[in-house]
Amino acid sequence: MSEPVKLDAPVTPGGVIGILGGGQLGRMLAMAAARLGLRSSVYCSGYDAPAFQVTQEYITASYGDPAMLKDFADACDVVTFEFENIPVASLDYLSELRPVHPGPRALEMLQDRLTEKNFVRSLGLGTAPFFPVETPEDARRAFAELKGGAGILKTRRLGYDGKGQAKVTSADEAAWACEAFAGAPAILEGFVEFAYEASVVAARGVDGSFAAYDPAENVHENHILRRSIVPSSLSPAQVKNAQDIAQKIADALDYVGVLGVELFVQKDGTLLVNEIAPRVHNSGHWTLEACACSQFEQHIRAVAGWPLGDPSRHSDAVMENIIGAEVNAWESLAKGGALHLYGKQDAAPGRKMGHITRLKPRTK
Ligand code: AMP
Repeated sequence: MSEPVKLDAPVTPGGVIGILGGGQLGRMLAMAAARLGLRSSVYCSGYDAPAFQVTQEYITASYGDPAMLKDFADACDVVTFEFENIPVASLDYLSELRPVHPGPRALEMLQDRLTEKNFVRSLGLGTAPFFPVETPEDARRAFAELKGGAGILKTRRLGYDGKGQAKVTSADEAAWACEAFAGAPAILEGFVEFAYEASVVAARGVDGSFAAYDPAENVHENHILRRSIVPSSLSPAQVKNAQDIAQKIADALDYVGVLGVELFVQKDGTLLVNEIAPRVHNSGHWTLEACACSQFEQHIRAVAGWPLGDPSRHSDAVMENIIGAEVNAWESLAKGGALHLYGKQDAAPGRKMGHITRLKPRTK
């Protein structure tokens, strides 16, 4: 394998940002790029992807198709991605042709819950207790290690919005859940009785500069993010702690772009890292209206080698996801906030169809 191509000068206006993945995150990235006078090319395995509607250049092909990946790279100045299930081999291949941000090594580390959690621990940061599980016997043994309480069995790869997860309250249940995963490698995590959930969205530039947004307090329903609230209930010291955690992670990965760090806030005030998303994050959508520079613009700035924008928040905000058939109420929703619809045809249960952000003057 040859050396990855480096971005040695900023992508100039008129240049092309290549985005792997065509969902709503890709759509909002493409719109942010357009605002900066940059073009985008979107590569997605599906037809009719939400991001295709807002860019002139798009490709439908498998993420493992070298010929199509090469055509895509040839048309771009820099390549990024909007979801983490891109094959690392494809990112490695692309990185020999064009600068790729974030890089393949960061994605590789974070695609697997076991390497991700070992990495977080190696930085001296807290996580829930976790144990690798491959067989029902492993699951029983791991459950015993939890020494009481419940656990969550999670597949190491390809999980999102609670998919590939099962809450277990006995060794038997842990073993059955492992069988149901049909041999997919997993981890058993201790169930954290957190006070609430929070997340911090932050960016690191090509030059190592760093900018973090105010952490959001997050409410989940059925494992799907329902609402993000800023300001959160975190104290100023906890806010700094959350932002320092994000910086430590970003520096250690030599990360370029925006990342989201999901946190459990424990009753004693300490923060545990639940998950790191190597991309813009749903809990950062409020930045579109409440900040000088949104997470989408910030990501484009970072990957294009531009100076990072100002992440400061000028308003309080509550962002709510619009899920499944809730989108049918778009007309009444449009009366009460900043409405974003993602252009998806099929309002399947659990599918994120849009979001709405309501602002108030900043209180703290
Ligand atoms: P994840 O896919 O790991 O982000 O998990 C989705 C959601 O499940 C989290 O946002 C939590 O609400 C819940 N969850 C995941 N892991 C744990 C845990 N170890 N303890 C308690 N709740 C959890």
